[in-house]
Amino acid sequence: MKLKSIASLALAALFGVTAVFAADSAKPNIIFILADDIGYGDWSCYGATKVKTPNLDRLAAQGRRFTDAHSPSAVCTPTRYAFMTGEYAWRKPGTGILPGTAALIIEPGRVTVPSLLKQAGYITGVVGKWHLGLGATSPTDYNGEIKPGPLEIGFDYAWLLPATGDRTPCVWVENHRVVGLDPADPIKLDYTVQRGQPGSFVNGIPRIGKQTGGKTALWKDDEIADLLTKKAVAFIEKNKTKPFFLYFATHDIHVPRVPAPRFKGASQAGVRGDVIQEFDWSVGEVMAALDRLKLADNTLLIVTSDNGGVLDTNGPDSFNSGTVETNNGHLHNGPLRAGKGSPYEGGTRVPFIVRWPGHVQTGTSDALICHVDMLAAAAALTGQKLAVEAGPDSFNVLPALLGEKRDKPCRDHLVEHGNVLALRKGTWKFVPAAPVGKGKKGKTRKPTAAELYNLDDDIAETKNVADQHPEIVKEMTTLLRALREKGRSRP
Ligand code: CA
Repeated sequence: MKLKSIASLALAALFGVTAVFAADSAKPNIIFILADDIGYGDWSCYGATKVKTPNLDRLAAQGRRFTDAHSPSAVCTPTRYAFMTGEYAWRKPGTGILPGTAALIIEPGRVTVPSLLKQAGYITGVVGKWHLGLGATSPTDYNGEIKPGPLEIGFDYAWLLPATGDRTPCVWVENHRVVGLDPADPIKLDYTVQRGQPGSFVNGIPRIGKQTGGKTALWKDDEIADLLTKKAVAFIEKNKTKPFFLYFATHDIHVPRVPAPRFKGASQAGVRGDVIQEFDWSVGEVMAALDRLKLADNTLLIVTSDNGGVLDTNGPDSFNSGTVETNNGHLHNGPLRAGKGSPYEGGTRVPFIVRWPGHVQTGTSDALICHVDMLAAAAALTGQKLAVEAGPDSFNVLPALLGEKRDKPCRDHLVEHGNVLALRKGTWKFVPAAPVGKGKKGKTRKPTAAELYNLDDDIAETKNVADQHPEIVKEMTTLLRALREKGRSRP
């Protein structure tokens, strides 16, 4: 009898502890890993065979893999702007691909993913590629206190690659300062110098914009992935006892593609494949840290990409770093049409995996979701109501992320932002006719006809059925115009 009651007491204590954990799990840690330029077909769990991604495959098996997730834009800066603010970047002029001298494009004080989570008691950190501008005015002065930046829009901690790997300055910024800068050797940037021109080389690699000075602060290209991963894991370790939000934006696999020596030749798809495997390693290190710290069960982990894949040969091993030949049959955007920069599916449909053991239903999902929705999803997850003006294009896709059954989809349409705005609704994909105008070289551009695809049986967008469905073309033309004019799409 006595033993039995001790056992029930112990059980009760156990359940008590469980209840505490259950209450805590209402505020899971959130890690959003954003790869750069990784395409829909780049991971083995999305069909790749010449590139192996065991960690991402394991994550997909433990979580939910999305087949119709989209980056908010087909290029870097606007995707990051939209993820952070919940607003389509094409609504706001000045949110195109930024030089390393651009001022911050998100106004301090507005609701962002980090500021919203900070409001809910989270410690917030960003590690990796920023590319949203730094400082109050352009050109950014990297030699003093650099602000406003991430710390002014909701982050508690920042370790940044300021613009892109192929743009100057090639230095790290921690919070408000360049790391390791010698004041006697100030950084000067000249963005009239194009990539490949004399003066554009840093560490022997051509960059956009010339950098002089800052020699003691230069990053080492083949150590970028190692260093960023180390910083991401350190942030997790430091904040293991609090709810935290980590935005880990890798440089992989943007150009210049310079893997750490141990990844050289690791894949069967050239250097481009090698850096995908390096990215997979980084994700694996984050997963291992969560396991080691016993945080995996209480962490919502998302891994995705900022736009579709692209072939580009910039880097020290240029002839081996991103051509049809070096891809060796690897289809970086899988079955999709086009890639980075394009309004076709290859531009914005990206791999997307979410894991939160015991909360996210395992399996695959064909729900239409977008990174612009992360703000509303984060608000729902932390029990906050978004102000009417906040996140004007952010839909609460939390039920889709968790795999809850719903009668209606979380979002039934999406504007796809390539070099023109395209529209998704149901199984239809609409690319409006491009207006006649002057092209880049001053030549008059040929008018193009409106395009309509039924993705249900034409995922590769090869059969334009606009002529067969004039009523759908009309409906989608009207909807796209309304979404533009209204200034918001969230109900
Ligand atoms: Ca990108």
